[in-house]
Amino acid sequence: MSVAPVPTLDFEDRFARELGEMALPWQAEPAPDPRLLALNEPLAAELGLAADWLRGPDGLRFLVGNLVPSGATPVAQAYSGHQFGGFTPRLGDGRALLLGEVVTPGGRRLDLHLKGSGRTPFARGGDGLAAVGPMLREYVISEAMHALGIPTTRSLAVVATGRPVYRETVVPGAVLARVASSHLRVGSFQYAAATGDLDLLRRLADHAISRHHPGAAEAPHRYLALFEAVVSAQASLVARWMLVGFVHGVMNTDNMTISGETIDYGPCAFLDVFDPATVFSSIDAGGRYAYGNQPVVAEWNLARLAEALLPLLAEDQEQAIALAVEALGRFREQYSAAWTAGMRAKLGLPSDAEAAEAAALVDDLLVMLQANHVDYTSFFRGLGSAARGEPEPVRGLVLDLASLDDWLGRWLALAPDGQAMDRVNPAYIPRNHLVEEALTAGVAGELGPLHRLLEAVTVPFDERPGLERYAAPAPEDFGSYVTFCGT
Ligand code: AMP
Ligand code: MG
Repeated sequence: MSVAPVPTLDFEDRFARELGEMALPWQAEPAPDPRLLALNEPLAAELGLAADWLRGPDGLRFLVGNLVPSGATPVAQAYSGHQFGGFTPRLGDGRALLLGEVVTPGGRRLDLHLKGSGRTPFARGGDGLAAVGPMLREYVISEAMHALGIPTTRSLAVVATGRPVYRETVVPGAVLARVASSHLRVGSFQYAAATGDLDLLRRLADHAISRHHPGAAEAPHRYLALFEAVVSAQASLVARWMLVGFVHGVMNTDNMTISGETIDYGPCAFLDVFDPATVFSSIDAGGRYAYGNQPVVAEWNLARLAEALLPLLAEDQEQAIALAVEALGRFREQYSAAWTAGMRAKLGLPSDAEAAEAAALVDDLLVMLQANHVDYTSFFRGLGSAARGEPEPVRGLVLDLASLDDWLGRWLALAPDGQAMDRVNPAYIPRNHLVEEALTAGVAGELGPLHRLLEAVTVPFDERPGLERYAAPAPEDFGSYVTFCGT
């Protein structure tokens, strides 16, 4: 393993130093023939990395973990997790490494993390690898989420390794270089709590406060304030998912961050037709992580975080539980407030619109969208035109025109602002049929469709000529969509 200076990049290893019990030094497997499939140049610039260097041989070795920069200590992170409700005490990074933290020229501390870099001691039965398709999928969807203004981990690059990966068939392997505020998860706290080492749990909480919720350090009860801050961040995050029609698909506690960023894009997908029961993941037979369940699951996960934090909340357990229950009780009101404000913005309603009237409009609309199997994204985008006197785009989407026209009349009476709506209702999301098309081509080595899709979804609110097919609903014959985990 060679050590070489990485131009203008300052690597630190604060996580590994402060939380050594949860950081297992490890190295990436050598990639026989690294080839760059996608590079996020604006993000590289934000990190202070030269795109030309990243494209070169040293840059590619760096992006697959085979060139470790000075100051970096690659580690596999230990964490636990409730997966579909069942607790696994020792999960951890089975196929990923935290390279370290980068302090950007702008002064932000960000994790640089590699996914698909080979087996680690946490791999259990897994091969430690990732395939090109799923890594390109994380790249597209996370960057689309970022462009939609939703907190998320980012994707810096996808590099094909030249190594075959054995799934249902033999597929090409890849490493995703991911950037995040941190990789601290609810499962990280569950792991620290399960060790019974109170000092470790306290150090983890202090680390999280300092990196994500520094305001908590000033509060009379800093660990309670940390929990409250995570509750707020997650309430706001999940409200944003719901407003844009995002289904995460695998909201296990190891896939929920302390920072409030969306993480681990596995079987995720966006709604086409509006239906709260929508499930895309092949393994979610019971619909635990269905679109409409996401707020309840987030609250359940936060209850697991509260349990892990109990020893820090009060010496007396009854008292600790009372504090946790009260803080968690605020999730619902915070979620509802964020979602209601977001829906009002999607409908372009003026701030003085009467709350009960706005709520009735929203309720009636969602019932109508579901009953008529309406494409969620196209409908809201079309409403912007309807506010400007052109109802035809939305009238073309709803079968029950009498109900729609009645609803439009009530809504237009409130004088909605179409311009403001276009700034919150995206024209372009990574629609399932387009993602599939781009990934199928990308796996075969044809990257044009991926780059055209990225061009659309990374500027989602700005409708542009030539991109009409990226704004259109799925073709009738696309059928029901199924996604897969951990591949
Ligand atoms: P996920 O649900 O994809 O976030 O992954 C859950 C756990 O499985 C994590 O501990 C991952 O590191 C691990 N994992 C997923 N896929 C693999 C793989 N191919 N090899 C080793 N570990 C894996
Ligand atoms: Mg995960």
